[in-house]
This record gives sequence, C-alpha cells and structure tokens, in this order.
Amino acid sequence: MQEIIEKRKFMREIWREAERSARLDKCFLCGQANIAFCNSHLTPRFILQNISENGEIFNFHNFSFHDDVSFDTKCGLNNSGTFRFICCKCDSTYFSDYENENNIKKLNWGSKLCSQIIIKNFLSRMHKRCIDGLIPDILLRRGFDIQNIEFSHELLRLDIKGYNGEIRYQKGIIENNLKNKHYIFFQKRLNYKVPFAVQSDIVIHRNINGDVINDVYCMDENYKMRTMHLCIFPLKQETVIALFMDKFSRKRYDKFIRSFQMLNDNEKLHYISYLAFKYSEDIFFSPLISKEIIDNENLHKLSRETYDDKNFGGAYVDELHSPNNLVDFRQIPNLLLPQYHI
Ligand SMILES: [Zn+2]
Repeated sequence: MQEIIEKRKFMREIWREAERSARLDKCFLCGQANIAFCNSHLTPRFILQNISENGEIFNFHNFSFHDDVSFDTKCGLNNSGTFRFICCKCDSTYFSDYENENNIKKLNWGSKLCSQIIIKNFLSRMHKRCIDGLIPDILLRRGFDIQNIEFSHELLRLDIKGYNGEIRYQKGIIENNLKNKHYIFFQKRLNYKVPFAVQSDIVIHRNINGDVINDVYCMDENYKMRTMHLCIFPLKQETVIALFMDKFSRKRYDKFIRSFQMLNDNEKLHYISYLAFKYSEDIFFSPLISKEIIDNENLHKLSRETYDDKNFGGAYVDELHSPNNLVDFRQIPNLLLPQYHI
C-alpha cells in the first residue's frame, strides 16, 4: 500500500511540474498578459454535474487502468478534464453559445457553436500535449534514462503547430460570422440520460469494414490527419449526441459516413459508444454506473487500444500494428441504450 501511495505521489508531482512548465505568459484566446489563468473545463461543468454524485465523477482510468490501483479513478467536479490556457473572461464569454443547455437541445448547431466546441477541444488537446511533451525533460533532469528526447521535441513542435492552425481557422469562422463551415453527419436527442459524457476530437483510423481512413502511421510531414468531433452530452433529463467535422475534413470521411449511415439506429448508438472508448480519454462516468460495466473486459481492452496496437502498444510486440483481434464494436455493451440510463 505504501508503495502505491508513493507511486501516486511521484506521478502527481511530475505531472504538476510539467503543468507549471507548460503555462503560457498570456491568454491563448485574447492575448492579454499578467492574468490569472482559469481552470477551464473541456466538457462543460454543468454537463458533468448531470452525471455526478456528491460532487464526484468517475474518470477513464476505471477502464484503461482497471487493474492498476496506482491511478486515481474518480475526481471532483472542479478538476475533471480541466486545462489552464485562457483567462477567466474568455472562459466565461467565448464559449457561451454552446455552454447553454437550450442551445445544445436545439440541434442543427450552427458553425459558431461548432467552432466553439472545436476550439475548446484543441485548447485542451494542446494543454495535454504540452504536459506530456515536457514530462521526458523533467524525468531526464531527475536522473532517469530518457532516449530520443530531440525526436520527441520535434514531434511536440509539429503537434503544437497543427493545433495552432486549427484554432486560428475556427477563430476566423467565429470572428467573421461565417456560416455552413461544418458538417454534422449525426445528431440525436435521446429522451433519457446516459451514464457518461464525452467531448473530444477524434482521428478515426479505420472504417467500420476495416479500410484505412486516416493513415495514422504515415510519417510524411505533409500528410494531414483529419479530425472529427464527438459530443455525448447528458443533460438534466435527456442526452444530445453529435458527430461533426469542418468541411475540409469531409472528403476524407466520405466512405466512413456512408458506412455509418447504413447501420440501423441501435447500431449507430452502439458504434458511437465504441468510438468514445476507442478514440477518446475525455470520458466521464456517473458513479451510478454498474459494476458489471466497470468490470467489462472488452471495455478494458478497447480503452487500451491505440489504433492497431493493443495494450497501449506496450505489449504484444510481435503483433504491433496488427488490426487482428482488436475489439469489435459489437463486443462491448451499447451504453447509449435506454437500459443503461441513469
Ligand atoms: Zn482571454
């Protein structure tokens, strides 16, 4: 037990140091310096509140690190999926269209609302990426043997450049009040509250039939991954689900969208549950979720898959980049069905 406590303490300490080093000197959105950075939520706090119990919710570690007790599995509402890159004024005003239950419920979201979601996704992604990118340096300073640090710096630089470009483009849509810049290919309101919330950018690797959509192993710097955005928003009594992308990305996803549209209504929900566990870590669960779900082995396996790699790519070296024996969407519980509502 003492060893676990020490390990948790060490991991938190390294993470906090990386988080401090990743801080900016001005707000990423308005550029104002000398500000107190806001503790911004990726998934809006009022949505997380809908699935919380006594101010707490379960995080993704319940699945991805199911057997490893050194990871925290629940968190307080104030610290669930937060990032510190913008000032409090921007946090409370910039996202106000989508951080509003009535606007979310209306469906057929306009481009302004979609752009707000995308900007938030990339700000959070950039924050996480900066922290992850700084951890090797901190470990190196503490005497750990870290290899290929220049390579990881270069990857970090390219990623940040990509996120910056995406955010600039979406800001332009908002500031110039541009219309029809996004394509929502699935949006649905369910008349019950599902037990989990997701807001995430995802890069889909393979189509439902296994064909490659984004070649995530491509090393060509000019090849651009195309992102789509997944929202599962449990509201007070109902749930809104959306899958969308900016119009530049639509061509890449044409085949995917066609195969998705051929699924029946329940299969679509089933596939969306799968996408959440396969491609996102920004999933939060109600503590009311059943033990049977928390203990589901296929959900554990799926949450550890990274594209074609099982178990975070850390094991099964002989099977690396092999699409065989990955979890199929039909093998997990369809958590968006009414039977799992809370
Ligand atoms: Zn600001």
